[in-house]
Amino acid sequence: MAYEKSLGIIKPDAVERNLIGSIIKIIEDNDIKINQMKMLELTSSMAEEFYNIHKGKPFYEKLISYMTSGPVVLMVLEGNDVVKRYRDLMGKTNPEDAAEGTIRKLYAKDTTFNSVHGSDSIENALTEISLFF
Ligand code: UDP
Ligand code: MG
Repeated sequence: MAYEKSLGIIKPDAVERNLIGSIIKIIEDNDIKINQMKMLELTSSMAEEFYNIHKGKPFYEKLISYMTSGPVVLMVLEGNDVVKRYRDLMGKTNPEDAAEGTIRKLYAKDTTFNSVHGSDSIENALTEISLFF
């Protein structure tokens, strides 16, 4: 089991609903370390670069406008097996499919406004972290 990093984002819908503290508590209670953190509003070019892999998909424009609609919290998460452990903690993209107790089950509004991001691989985590830190 490797010590890894993941990029976590508390997305605008969650910041707007005062859920920063609740989400951070879940992260910390699950033995994930927040080693860097900052809050900012993503510009369109930042959001477009970050979600470049989804360019051209039907939800892309909506995703970019959502991610630039208000401040986000960016976090460098660290711990053993953190990429998978944080993905499991977030739950499935569509909150209707997310397991009980996951962040998205608890807080996400729908498949787009789903409150949190987490890197999906060790390699992507390093790329994503380098965009913001
Ligand atoms: N998304 C969306 N509609 C979809 C799939 C994804 O609006 O059908 C949004 C949603 O905010 C999601 C993000 O695009 O978190 C990135 O999609 P991805 O498939 O990478 O999901 P994730 O890795 O965040 O679970
Ligand atoms: Mg993804």
